[in-house]
Amino acid sequence: MSLNSVLMDRLREIVGVGNCITDVPSMAAYLQEERGLFTSNAAGIVRPASTAEVASVVEACVAANVSIVPQGGNTGLCGGATANKNGSQVIVNLGRLNKIRSIDPINLNITVDAGCILADIQRIASEHNSLFPLSLAAEGSCQIGGNLATNAGGINVLRYGNTRDMVLGLEVVLPDGRIWNGLKSLSKDNTGYALLQCFVGAEGTLGIITAAVMKLFPQLTETSTALCAFSNLDSATKLLNLARRLTSDSITAFELIPLAGLEMCVKHIKGVNNPFAQPHPWYVLVELSTSQPDSAIRHSLDKMLEKALEDELIVDAVLAESLEQVQSLWRIRKSLPEAQKYEGGSIKHDVSVPVSRVTELINRGTDIIARKFPGARPVPFGHLGDGNIHFNISQPIGVNKANYLLQWADMNRVIHDLVVSMGGSFSAEHGIGRLKVEEMRHYKDPVELELMVRVKRALDPKNLMNPGKVVDIG
Ligand SMILES: Cc1cc2nc3c(=O)[nH]c(=O)nc-3n(C[C@H](O)[C@H](O)[C@H](O)COP(=O)(O)OP(=O)(O)OC[C@H]3O[C@@H](n4cnc5c(N)ncnc54)[C@H](O)[C@@H]3O)c2cc1C
Repeated sequence: MSLNSVLMDRLREIVGVGNCITDVPSMAAYLQEERGLFTSNAAGIVRPASTAEVASVVEACVAANVSIVPQGGNTGLCGGATANKNGSQVIVNLGRLNKIRSIDPINLNITVDAGCILADIQRIASEHNSLFPLSLAAEGSCQIGGNLATNAGGINVLRYGNTRDMVLGLEVVLPDGRIWNGLKSLSKDNTGYALLQCFVGAEGTLGIITAAVMKLFPQLTETSTALCAFSNLDSATKLLNLARRLTSDSITAFELIPLAGLEMCVKHIKGVNNPFAQPHPWYVLVELSTSQPDSAIRHSLDKMLEKALEDELIVDAVLAESLEQVQSLWRIRKSLPEAQKYEGGSIKHDVSVPVSRVTELINRGTDIIARKFPGARPVPFGHLGDGNIHFNISQPIGVNKANYLLQWADMNRVIHDLVVSMGGSFSAEHGIGRLKVEEMRHYKDPVELELMVRVKRALDPKNLMNPGKVVDIG
């Protein structure tokens, strides 16, 4: 019997025959990856149902010297949850660890298994008159363990921070199979190194998160949404500052949409309409929200928009008057990545700079692309309020998609050079995974990178926990 078949027998014993998948057709769904950039193969997919089972699976793999790929909802955009090509790794899928362990609306926290779907946590929080504010377009399938492992951002970072800011405690199965129970719910605990934060954003390279205590917030009672139109980008960034000052800092979303993106959505996505009669080069979706009843938040929005018109920051605005209209404005923003798919190849950049420099980034980036990649079409959109722009570049009309995508690394290099020269980040919210390991080597401060390698070696000396992702020590 081969090593793998002995290991697989042991894994079947731990999780049950039906939860250890080894036949090729059934493994396919776990091997696919959102952007189709990587080929993934695996010795098997293991689906444990408890922390103890996860620990036993890790112990068995370590004893067999077989490496492990933790996997949540498999919606990540950097290939972090994919296995290598040669089929020697075991994917540990957390989908069966899906219980809400407890909810505490008095202390405003919730303790969840790592495999809980993000939308389910939002719903349960809401049923307890509380808010779990992490929100992103993949929320119907991504898991909280994956959100923590990638330190996901999303549309509410401006008010509530990244996933990192919402976590109080973690339970983790370490690369040697031991369980670290750090499921504390304290707001204050100054007792040494913040180890918990090491596992957040580690993309499964330092251990498998099995449960978490997450912060809750008071339920929102009022929300007001508008789509503002601008004649220039600089006015859009200036509006953010004005809006924060005039609305008691109640802005929860401030999302940039370029005209090219809006037009793609209208053309390709059923039910998306342009709410303006005239085209404008830039739009921002602004949302204000509050937990204070009768807060007159709509009045604040009206006042803010009046002042913005008077100061000639905005040229027009559409205010949502019903839930349906709110949804239809958000549909434009949420459809942007999908709409781009219909325009052929799209080379992605998930970058950030200080908000005050976003205009410079987009203008300089657009000029560079026009010079070096004639005909390529920039569609920069996203979380303007956080300085995080998805600087995606659609292929020139009519060219071959595969040939266009061959320029991925070259195009990344020129945009990332620009971003880093402006004090920005080449990966604002999607992480590193397999996709950006080379960029890490190229751009990270050498001292910082060496410290990361040391942390990885200290926690995972055999390099069996998601090897080759984030920092490659192989
Ligand atoms: C349509 C769409 C919209 C998106 N929008 C956003 C957005 O606005 N903001 C944003 O930040 N991201 C966004 N993403 C990316 C993605 O949804 C997030 O990165 C998400 O947090 C990944 O969660 P997941 O459960 O799918 O993780 P997976 O894709 O399964 O895994 C991602 C990484 O985390 C590791 N991992 C997963 N679970 C665990 C665990 N329990 N313990 C340890 N490691 C683990 C994996 O090994 C891998 O490295 C979007 C993706 C899509 C498809």
